[in-house]
Amino acid sequence: MTDGRLDTGVAAGRLSAEDYAENFADLHPPLDRHEAVVAADRCYFCYDAPCVTACPTGIDIPLFIRQIATGNTTGSAKTIFDQNILGGMCARVCPTETLCEQACVREKAEGKPVVIGRLQRYATDAAMTAGKQFYERAAPSGKLVAVVGAGPAGLACAHRLAMHGHDVTVFDARPKAGGLNEYGIAAYKTVDGYAQAEVDYVTAIGGIAVEPGKALGRDLSLAGLCTSYDAVFLGMGLGGVNALGVEGDDSEGVIDAVEYIAALRQASDLATLPVGRRVVVLGGGMTAIDVAVQAKLLGAEEVTICYRRGKDNMNASEYEQDLATSKGVAIRHWLQPKRILAQSGKVTGIQLEYTTMSDGRLTGTGESLTLGADQVFRAIGQSYVTEPLEGGPSVALEGGRIKVDGEGRTSIAKVWAGGDCVAGGDDLTVSAVAMGRDAAESIHKSFNTRSGA
Ligand SMILES: Cc1cc2nc3c(=O)[nH]c(=O)nc-3n(C[C@H](O)[C@H](O)[C@H](O)COP(=O)(O)OP(=O)(O)OC[C@H]3O[C@@H](n4cnc5c(N)ncnc54)[C@H](O)[C@@H]3O)c2cc1C
Ligand code: SF4
Repeated sequence: MTDGRLDTGVAAGRLSAEDYAENFADLHPPLDRHEAVVAADRCYFCYDAPCVTACPTGIDIPLFIRQIATGNTTGSAKTIFDQNILGGMCARVCPTETLCEQACVREKAEGKPVVIGRLQRYATDAAMTAGKQFYERAAPSGKLVAVVGAGPAGLACAHRLAMHGHDVTVFDARPKAGGLNEYGIAAYKTVDGYAQAEVDYVTAIGGIAVEPGKALGRDLSLAGLCTSYDAVFLGMGLGGVNALGVEGDDSEGVIDAVEYIAALRQASDLATLPVGRRVVVLGGGMTAIDVAVQAKLLGAEEVTICYRRGKDNMNASEYEQDLATSKGVAIRHWLQPKRILAQSGKVTGIQLEYTTMSDGRLTGTGESLTLGADQVFRAIGQSYVTEPLEGGPSVALEGGRIKVDGEGRTSIAKVWAGGDCVAGGDDLTVSAVAMGRDAAESIHKSFNTRSGA
């Protein structure tokens, strides 16, 4: 794959320019002032609000909603940014239906929550459009911190460190900052270059130098960073993808979903993206839903998600599943891939086996099903890659990811980590932000402790 193009042998440009524009428009257009006030008025401003507890960044939700209701939109944005400097992106991408809005008392009582995510977007958009910056740097501390990875975890960490007066250099292997906000999130959730606009907003505080195209393990080493900086934060995300491991999985047209989505997000013209007529997606998480929906929106005739367990086991929320089916994606359960069918090296279909639970274990039933396909997307999970840290001080892992304590400290002195690359997270943007922010506070605290302040 080069320059956002994929050489899969299937056709590009299935739709008109108008269709692409319509299909990839903002999933939830922003609320206007009247809509925002009406939505805010539904909030009971609960004491001990369950929505706050359900938010990984702990935003004071009743307070920011009350500020919208009383016309203090700027104050509302500050309430959000105080806890979550990427509150604008989170307003767009958080699965609110399983977080704050699921916990909302109005969801419990009436099945209709306060639209917290859309209100959060209303407030943060207003402040960012106005160029309103809320934070000034503390007096320079003289401390230097290296952040590896400019995704949500790294950016949140860098911003909080900069607030405390520390000088931060953010290294990222990719040409652009933003991590999966820039290269992964579905295009219709973050339109009009929002990811880059947010990076600019976050770094405008000053004291943060972003160095793209610099990879740990290639251009930098952990030992070198530990020598040159007072602290290091690792926020490298998950760089690996799980292999399919079935016959024919190297056929042309069998594609890694994350790679395809990255190409889609970077394409200046969606008509250049080859998409199959009959597409099969393997997986049951957010990535599977996103690639399936986007393939349909790019003009695929049939898109079928095949997942090896049942509906309730899917990592994608019910809302995401409904979104996919509303766009014409079929979701089939209890099917696992057995063999990719190909002719002249190009995929023509996939043979799947029905599955069932037996004695608490997932097993194949022996019955099979064949689906014709000219594109098969692998969306069966990502994994942490250890190579960037090899050869340096040995960072302890747990379950294949970096082991950290409650403050984000790794097993190596001076090294913290957060976001998807650490063990025990839930692989959400908002959780990565929370971990980056909290690690920054821990780093700051360690400087004060070390200097005896
Ligand atoms: C397709 C897809 C869709 C998703 N959709 C949603 C969604 O709708 N809502 C949601 O909440 N979550 C979603 N997620 C999950 C969410 O994007 C992640 O949880 C979040 O981005 C994790 O942030 P992070 O900072 O830990 O890692 P990342 O965002 O992955 O950022 C890591 C950064 O580190 C850089 N890096 C990696 N290795 C190196 C190295 N060796 N040296 C230097 N830099 C390096 C990368 O280039 C990258 O910029 C989605 C994930 C995927 C894959
Ligand atoms: S739970 Fe719902 S009603 Fe209560 S404060 Fe949160 S958003 Fe408002």
